[in-house]
Amino acid sequence: MSFYLSNLNMPERDILIIGGGPSGLSTALHIARDFPQLTPRILILEKARYPRPKLCAGGLVVDAEVILQRLGLDVGEVPHVDADRLHFDFEAKGLNLRVPGRHALRIIRRDEFDQWLAKKAESRGIEIQEQITVKNIIPDEGGVTVETDQGDFRARIVVGADGSNGITRRCLFPNAPVNTARVLEVITPQHHVVAKQSPRHNTHREGSAYFDFFPIPSNIAGYVWDFPTQVNGQAMRCWGIYDTNLLAGEKRPQLKEPLAREMSRLGFDLSRYEIQGYPIRWFSPENQMSVPRVLLVGDAAGADPFLGEGISVALGYGALAAREIGQAFRRNDFSFRGYKQRVLTSALGRALIARWLIAQFIYLFKWKWFQILVWRILKPVVFLFAWLFVLNWGKRM
Ligand SMILES: Cc1cc2nc3c(=O)[nH]c(=O)nc-3n(C[C@H](O)[C@H](O)[C@H](O)COP(=O)(O)OP(=O)(O)OC[C@H]3O[C@@H](n4cnc5c(N)ncnc54)[C@H](O)[C@@H]3O)c2cc1C
Repeated sequence: MSFYLSNLNMPERDILIIGGGPSGLSTALHIARDFPQLTPRILILEKARYPRPKLCAGGLVVDAEVILQRLGLDVGEVPHVDADRLHFDFEAKGLNLRVPGRHALRIIRRDEFDQWLAKKAESRGIEIQEQITVKNIIPDEGGVTVETDQGDFRARIVVGADGSNGITRRCLFPNAPVNTARVLEVITPQHHVVAKQSPRHNTHREGSAYFDFFPIPSNIAGYVWDFPTQVNGQAMRCWGIYDTNLLAGEKRPQLKEPLAREMSRLGFDLSRYEIQGYPIRWFSPENQMSVPRVLLVGDAAGADPFLGEGISVALGYGALAAREIGQAFRRNDFSFRGYKQRVLTSALGRALIARWLIAQFIYLFKWKWFQILVWRILKPVVFLFAWLFVLNWGKRM
């Protein structure tokens, strides 16, 4: 085991990962699988204590499961609900997608999923210290000083896996433009309670996950979702609205208005439930991803801009960062020159670029006729495009 000694007063690790969400845990798990000699040299610092809340609808696409399977992990161990169909609608009509021979989306709760993943990491010898908040990151020629609320650490390499609002990115690139989506989420019982039920309220939606892009013509560059989920084993629904902010310069309604409208159409009264909000930093080819000795992964580097889908993406960044770190130790070169280029040319990077282009196309051509054309008329073209460029990148990693 080689420790990096520079200042005897600071605890030292070769690889310090800031954040124990999917991107940080995936980075550590991939290092442990591919470069096992580095495992004892990893330390993850996590500001919360598992199981910690994380606002997220918890939809896992096939790519997330592929990456977890390759790590020898069966996400079926985590409480989940499977949706057999994905519906991509405009005003309640559109295309629906099935994945042959399997579910289309597996929905987990993030407190349970992240705790499960953290336990798997610990069982493979990865050390995680909880309830330590990183306050500052200062790279220099010889290493990186990481200041926390529990004292300073010194590392050879730091991985910024601390999410959309992460301190790592803010320390490294304080003036860089930040593309963030605004997102609201609401959990309700599976069935609505209304005095009078109209027939349309009884539409059978169970077993399906819905994305409806009807808010786009009102300058909300995103969609409303409605997923089946479970909380403590009880069947529930997770609703939400995602807005990339690509039309932020235009006049827009309050974000909760379209969500309230969609829920009301299905018999739910938004005002009866707690609304929570959190941003998602999304990928753009301009995003910076490294400086010498520090790499960004997950939301810190950029999630999918089109749908805000970031769990599979976070797991994928972990695989790429692990490869980068293994090579850095082999060559004794910690510049991480070319990391971003290697991300962009990977299967994940190509999928992110495709989704960034789709987001520009779908959200900026905001007219109703165009949305109807895409979601209801050009179905085979949209399917083919999604299959080739948006999904299935996990197998090609
Ligand atoms: C409302 C909402 C719904 C979503 N729904 C979906 C969905 O259905 N499917 C999907 O794929 N994606 C979804 N996403 C996106 C997804 O949640 C993120 O892309 C994903 O969590 C990114 O993982 P990450 O590991 O990069 O960051 P995070 O999951 O945010 O993890 C970061 C970790 O770092 C820790 N941390 C932060 N700061 C510090 C610090 N200073 N010191 C130490 N630790 C720190 C945090 O406590 C956290 O554990 C949704 C997001 C939102 C907001």
